[in-house]
Amino acid sequence: MTELLLNHLGGQWHLGSGQGTELIDPVLGQPLVRVDATGLDLRAGFAHAREQGGAALRALSYRERAAMLAAAVQVLQANRDTYYDIATANSGTVRNDSAVDIDGGIFTLSTYAKLGAGLGERPFLLDGEAVRLGKDPLFQSQHILVPTRGVALFINAFNFPAWGLWEKAAPALLSGVPVIIKPATTTAWLTQRMVKDVVDAGIFPSGALSVVCGSSAGLLDALEPFDVLSFTGSAETAALIRSHPAVAQRSVRVNIEADSVNSALLLPEAAPEAALELLAKEVAREMTVKSGQKCTAIRRVFVPAALYDQAANAITARLAKTTVGNPRHEAVSMGALVNRAQQLAVQNGLAYLKAQAQTLHDGASHVLVDADPAVACCVGPTLLGVRDADGSDRVHDTEVFGPVATLLPYRDPAHALALVRRGQGSLVCSVYGSDAGALAQAALALADSHGRVHVISPEVAQSQTGHGNVMPQSLHGGPGRAGGGEELGGLRALGFYHRRSAIQASTNVLNAI
Ligand code: NAP
Repeated sequence: MTELLLNHLGGQWHLGSGQGTELIDPVLGQPLVRVDATGLDLRAGFAHAREQGGAALRALSYRERAAMLAAAVQVLQANRDTYYDIATANSGTVRNDSAVDIDGGIFTLSTYAKLGAGLGERPFLLDGEAVRLGKDPLFQSQHILVPTRGVALFINAFNFPAWGLWEKAAPALLSGVPVIIKPATTTAWLTQRMVKDVVDAGIFPSGALSVVCGSSAGLLDALEPFDVLSFTGSAETAALIRSHPAVAQRSVRVNIEADSVNSALLLPEAAPEAALELLAKEVAREMTVKSGQKCTAIRRVFVPAALYDQAANAITARLAKTTVGNPRHEAVSMGALVNRAQQLAVQNGLAYLKAQAQTLHDGASHVLVDADPAVACCVGPTLLGVRDADGSDRVHDTEVFGPVATLLPYRDPAHALALVRRGQGSLVCSVYGSDAGALAQAALALADSHGRVHVISPEVAQSQTGHGNVMPQSLHGGPGRAGGGEELGGLRALGFYHRRSAIQASTNVLNAI
């Protein structure tokens, strides 16, 4: 039997009382560890976090909590090699892809440590200036933000077990709100190990950081009105969460990060070669990083109709160089999908899209390196093409969560923007071109339906941070289909973990606050 991972709840480590679910190496097919949350006293654990962890965190200033985040960064840095080993075994990712998750998570945590240090000793945040409420200037209203007196429950997706933990936990802990994380079962190991290392280092007060691995059963039932819930995952699970009594009746504040059919758009150019090359490079990178299992990955690529063939050639030439297989082999640039279920989902999704598309580059043409096709959950990158961008509905509605993207031609910029919007709200759209005015216009037109617009002109070709890379300084989340959530964006993220109140009082009282 493999090791059964411990859960941390109520300030103590607990084994689940069931047999557990086995986590499997998606390349070698071997069992790794087991997770189980059966028999945990969730209500008592949530109460401990709320009452002990929350009170202890709130007793500290932002600067003191920021110092704890910085200490956690040190612990995680010291254990990076272990995290890489876990990611290779459990997520089947090559080192560069594991870095997006592991180092991306640590970087995000360290960014919040620095941001928090700048907030100083105060116990709450001001929101705007005091305004007088009547003729008498003595009676004023001042909005303030105070940490919520509840827990932050995180239910996360399988694709970012490290980053997904810290991008949520960093702003929560900095805000003074205790965290309970439930990672996706498939890849829970890395989340559990990171939490274990930080808890064992004794940095945070008891109850500040908890992890429950295994089934989500009962977690939402344990939520109370001042708790908050941040969910990342599929639209189907998001719909269940939205209708749960905790949200629908007890007004638990909820943030949803769901799936998204993101786009890249090449604007019409007098000399398109440079912009097209940048677009092709980014599309190929987005399709292959983490085998396309990124919520921000480019799924639809829009180019002027006259450049369709040229774009197809530029992207497929890059994809052809991708070596797929065992992430432990140095010649391999792209590893596996996370498990057999995801592999099947990608194959089914591809078949669904192909009914309305042609194949420009076939993933099946990639021979696996150092991996048994009967065992390894590897899928080569596939570029599809749809010449009738208006007539096909599937490409605009379907997120295939793997190394798959579709090229589409457009007539003019207005047509392109209308096609992008058929994604019904996305996390990110990249726009490529060299005319600053045209790029600015496109960015403004896309801003209402995208959490982030990533504008690439030649002068930022070297310094840009990448379409799919979520930087802690910028907003992550998107309207509509993307879930309507908002995360990160620097200190903006703290808003979710605070309650806003308008204090109406005399100037003297406001000054005393
Ligand atoms: P999922 O199947 O919806 O699972 C997400 C999480 O929800 C897992 O922890 C899962 O636990 C849990 N869960 C399942 N059923 C639940 C229920 N009835 N109540 C409460 N929690 C429940 O999604 P996934 O397959 O892990 O992730 C892939 C999807 O996530 C993709 O569509 C991707 O686009 C999206 N995603 C979005 C973002 C973003 O930031 N917008 C980031 C990453 C991924 P178990 O694992 O134990 O079932």
